[in-house]
Amino acid sequence: MAMMAAVQISKARGNFELVEKRIPDPSPDQVRIKVEACGVCHSDLILKDGLFPGIEYPRVPGHEVIGVVDAIGSMVKGFSPGQRVGVGWHGGHCFVCNSCRRGDFMTCDKATVCGISYDGGYAQYMVAPQDALAHVPDGLDPVAGAPLMCAGVTTFNALRHSGAKPGNVVGIQGMGGLGHLGIQFARAMGYHTVAISSSESKRDLAMQLGAHDFVDTSAGPLAKSLQKLGGAAVILATAPSGKSMHPLIEALGPGGKLVVIGVGPEPIAVTPLDLIPQRKSILGWPSGDAMDSQETLEFAALTKTHVMVEVFPLEKAASAFEHMLSGKVRFRAVLKMH
Ligand SMILES: [Zn+2]
Ligand SMILES: [Zn+2]
Repeated sequence: MAMMAAVQISKARGNFELVEKRIPDPSPDQVRIKVEACGVCHSDLILKDGLFPGIEYPRVPGHEVIGVVDAIGSMVKGFSPGQRVGVGWHGGHCFVCNSCRRGDFMTCDKATVCGISYDGGYAQYMVAPQDALAHVPDGLDPVAGAPLMCAGVTTFNALRHSGAKPGNVVGIQGMGGLGHLGIQFARAMGYHTVAISSSESKRDLAMQLGAHDFVDTSAGPLAKSLQKLGGAAVILATAPSGKSMHPLIEALGPGGKLVVIGVGPEPIAVTPLDLIPQRKSILGWPSGDAMDSQETLEFAALTKTHVMVEVFPLEKAASAFEHMLSGKVRFRAVLKMH
């Protein structure tokens, strides 16, 4: 029986355990992936702490996977051994519910999550259904590609569906794993890109990543700086803090949208009059499906997006996660298999 190394969580609020597991065989609609790299995401906490109902343990985390197709099930079409693929948060869908019948796979009633519903990429091998697979462009480094499968697709997809037009003022709040990609994507999409951070020390990097303007929220009211530019058409809120999002609403221009992708536990404070007079709105955006991920990888390769990562070996998954949680990782932690 062929075995592999994997890191699993065996109960809610359990630790990362390095274990030997049997290499899984693909069922008819699945491919087996030899994992090259897997990103460490804040949302892996959902598995670690059991924050979703009904999670079955033990479970291997990891939903930012880049690897090579190693074996395919009998019904798989369009993917073959040797091809490079990615798997993201969206782990598959049912094709039967009303959302799926509309082609809106992200809101599928039975959508699965890689690394929560089934074993993910903190392992040398994993299996995934073919509807969860993105093709990876030639030449894209697996370590750089991994964070694009969640942090990347979330920012890219939220921005391209935000309704902002080229030349519009688009603010990117936060300069972590999501924000550093958001600034580059916003610039490449032709927006007047404003980096919004609570730390002046991020200014140089923000400008290097392509921001046209930088606003330090600790230096004065954000709204004043952005209203000088006419107000933002869109602000992408990436900080994992609902509390930090209220001042962003005031910085929106007429019809402006606060697009929320940073996950935090506390509420976003907003009064009706924050929204009504200038027709402002707040919406959330949930990453994207496999084609969205594929288009993210292609756009990142095309525009030479710089994915900033710190690399850890699989057996150091626990410290990679700890570093990420404590904010020590600049900007994404990635596990590299060997
Ligand atoms: Zn994620
Ligand atoms: Zn469905």
